[in-house]
Amino acid sequence: TRRKFVAGNWKMNGSRATLGELDAIAAAAREASAVDVAVAVPFTLIDPAATRVPGLAIGAEDVHAAASGAHTGCVSAAMVKEAGARFTIVGHSERRADQHETSHDAWAKATAAHAAGLTVILCCGETEAERDAGRAERVVQAQIEKSVPDHAAGDWFTLAYEPRWAIGTGRTPTIDEIEAIHAIARAKLRQMVGDAADQIRILYGGSVTGTNAASILGAANVDGALVGGASLTAAKFVPIIDAAA
Ligand code: 13P
Repeated sequence: TRRKFVAGNWKMNGSRATLGELDAIAAAAREASAVDVAVAVPFTLIDPAATRVPGLAIGAEDVHAAASGAHTGCVSAAMVKEAGARFTIVGHSERRADQHETSHDAWAKATAAHAAGLTVILCCGETEAERDAGRAERVVQAQIEKSVPDHAAGDWFTLAYEPRWAIGTGRTPTIDEIEAIHAIARAKLRQMVGDAADQIRILYGGSVTGTNAASILGAANVDGALVGGASLTAAKFVPIIDAAA
């Protein structure tokens, strides 16, 4: 059986002044012993966050695919690990949109992160136009096919389904729509990694709140949540952790 996993993604938000939010998040995570809790923060906050709450898994929001070299402005997996990160997100739709990242890039980053000793949350998800065209399932299958490393396993790899149109919008798919995508994601993982697919957690992300978390987390094949806006404060994030417990 898969442990529930609630991960926050601070995106380009937060500062040293807001790290105090992590104190109550870490306390709630300690209480919710059946739930894995993690928070991805901007590069500059990894060290102070990991130092402040050593019991909470702090991670990066991206890493470069190369181990080192002439890549001005980029940060490697080994660097974020040295700063205190235990995991990284890769392939987030905002990076696919803003930095033109592809599923192949996400694959390379996931592979590099694993090699450096990080665990990985790899994101996939369709656009609104793709869903309206009835292509959501095919798009997600193709993203998984191209981005999931073929040695992916549940002890280091997590998939996150985040429909782009649900991110930061307050709109979410229906539970049936979430279950449909998570089922095809599980089937695609099984095709790629065999029985190891049973141990890989599949998170849902996109406008998760304390109000909708319980029903989303209760859906078939939903093993947790990847939370943006509602992870920025303990007041909003702790109810989601509690809903998973
Ligand atoms: P919101 O929870 O703000 O919709 O963001 C979801 C997300 O993109 C997490 O990675």
